[in-house]
Amino acid sequence: MNKGLLFVLSGPSGVGKGTVCKALLKKMPDLIYSVSATTRQPRIGETDGVNYFFKSREQFMQMIEEDQLLEYAEYVGNYYGTPRDFVERTLEEGRDIILEIEVQGALKVKEKFPDGIFIFLLPPSLDELKDRIRGRGTENDHVIDHRMNVAVEEIALMANYDYAVVNDEIDLACERIESIVIAEHCKIEPTE
Ligand code: 5GP
Repeated sequence: MNKGLLFVLSGPSGVGKGTVCKALLKKMPDLIYSVSATTRQPRIGETDGVNYFFKSREQFMQMIEEDQLLEYAEYVGNYYGTPRDFVERTLEEGRDIILEIEVQGALKVKEKFPDGIFIFLLPPSLDELKDRIRGRGTENDHVIDHRMNVAVEEIALMANYDYAVVNDEIDLACERIESIVIAEHCKIEPTE
């Protein structure tokens, strides 16, 4: 049986990774979503085990110590990480999995899974990105500025990715990613 493919959807905070990923999973029900662990407080409407596994700092540190995370990153004062077992099991079962993570973590995944497919989601412009972070209404000005600075640094790392997708409209961005998934399944593996 062929192994599944690992897709990593990354890009600056506020670009709409979460929204695009949600829409994509609706269109591609065979694609499995990797639920991350985080020390961030749940936002209104978020559910433990669905959006994230919400952990205390101590619990998160223990996960790191026990090597339970494929990657983790500290992002704007909180920790975020990808549980390793679930990703490995899903791929072994021949199913595709998608990770929706920030850029530092994506680059760490690339070291461990060089065959992964790395997709960078871009905002149509930086002004648009700031409006989106602000529009979410969950962050104060200090956090917004911090996230914008991080975003500019992150965009510079796009060269490490396989694909760049502009999130101008959710449906269009989804279609582009869907095309990437289909194309990757049609790829001929090089023979050694
Ligand atoms: P938020 O707090 O807005 O849910 O997420 C903040 C950032 O953390 C987003 O860019 C999100 O993609 C990223 N993130 C979510 N889960 C993970 C993870 O498991 N690992 C890493 N490295 N980043 C993550």
